[in-house]
Amino acid sequence: MQATLKKMVTFGGVGLHSGAPARLEIHPAPAGHGIVFRRSDLTPAVEIPARWDHVTPSKLCTLMDDGQGTTLSTVEHVMAALAGTGIHNALVIVDGPEVPILDGSAAPFVRGILRAGIAMQAAPLRAIRVLRPVEVREGEAFARLAPADHLEIDFQIDFTDAAIGRQEKRLDMANGAFLRELADSRTFCRQADVDAMRRNGLALGGTYLNAVVVDGARVLSPGGLRHRDEAVRHKMLDAMGDLALAGAPLLARYTGHRAGHAMTNRLLRALFADPAAWQWETCSPALEDRLPGAGVAAYDLVATDWAAA
Ligand SMILES: [Zn+2]
Repeated sequence: MQATLKKMVTFGGVGLHSGAPARLEIHPAPAGHGIVFRRSDLTPAVEIPARWDHVTPSKLCTLMDDGQGTTLSTVEHVMAALAGTGIHNALVIVDGPEVPILDGSAAPFVRGILRAGIAMQAAPLRAIRVLRPVEVREGEAFARLAPADHLEIDFQIDFTDAAIGRQEKRLDMANGAFLRELADSRTFCRQADVDAMRRNGLALGGTYLNAVVVDGARVLSPGGLRHRDEAVRHKMLDAMGDLALAGAPLLARYTGHRAGHAMTNRLLRALFADPAAWQWETCSPALEDRLPGAGVAAYDLVATDWAAA
């Protein structure tokens, strides 16, 4: 069955790059609606479906584009939260060009969605089953989708900074794993990159509280890391959000090796360009039980309670 929220939930914060105040509301939506973003600061308001074919390549975040010059940046963490809680239909209203960064993870979005409550809708749910491997490469980096009965995410990163280094993790996203293992992991970056972005008028809303900032072997953010391997967990969180832009739950194993937002979007484009590589599948109850949002509850977020402070 499809699902939406029981009631509207609001989030307030700042845009990571603009530093400007940003407000985001997630509203319930009818079955078959999907996830749609709306820029409420424009007249008339502009809507952009949360789908791979409305993504413009961007190095720093996932940028939605309506094709007429209206964009909305940094949608990946709220998309991951919606996918991780099994929300298929929602209208996400933002009052500016950027989604609020909150604490740099998906945990505040997840907490808000669970507080609003999940409403099941009397409509069948369709998933996208990957039928054969699809891969995109760029130098050493690659991203791949392969057939699997439920979503698995397998990620490797390799940074020269000793505070990050080489990290690898593989998770089956069924049974609330997204909430327990990934949702609270924050965006990370190097101090040198922050300095360069600031010089270019970016990351103006970035602080040591909404991003893990590293410098060589040192973690500059007070309180340190939430997980020893918080960096690779955050890359998996980003992948979860970027894959949610498929427009329906994916039944596939995703492998990312030093991949980023633009590469995961290229991967979805490659998948949907090949009609033999995927098919729609109406979910049986057994299949629904293996989707990332099945049966999730607030206690799955226990590990992030401290982050609410
Ligand atoms: Zn991210």
